[in-house]
Amino acid sequence: MNSSMIGKIEKAHRYAHEPERVKFTTLDATISGDNDDYHVSLTPEGWKCSCHTFQSHILETCSHVMALQLVLGKMLNDDVRYSTQGDADPL
Ligand SMILES: [Zn+2]
Repeated sequence: MNSSMIGKIEKAHRYAHEPERVKFTTLDATISGDNDDYHVSLTPEGWKCSCHTFQSHILETCSHVMALQLVLGKMLNDDVRYSTQGDADPL
């Protein structure tokens, strides 16, 4: 392996330990809830989930969206990151 590739691999490992370098702009995921699987997506308009709670638009979030927000943490921009601020306090 040449030295240029070794340098790139070392840099990749350093980046991987600094997840705040990554910002997801869109995302599609399936999350296995206790009773069913749900499709969660992050779009330019914000989060979406296929579950009943999210579709009812009462909370504008749900346990599946919040779970992904917690998993992704700093890899999300401020406006789509997990927050306990506001009316829909999940705690
Ligand atoms: Zn949901």
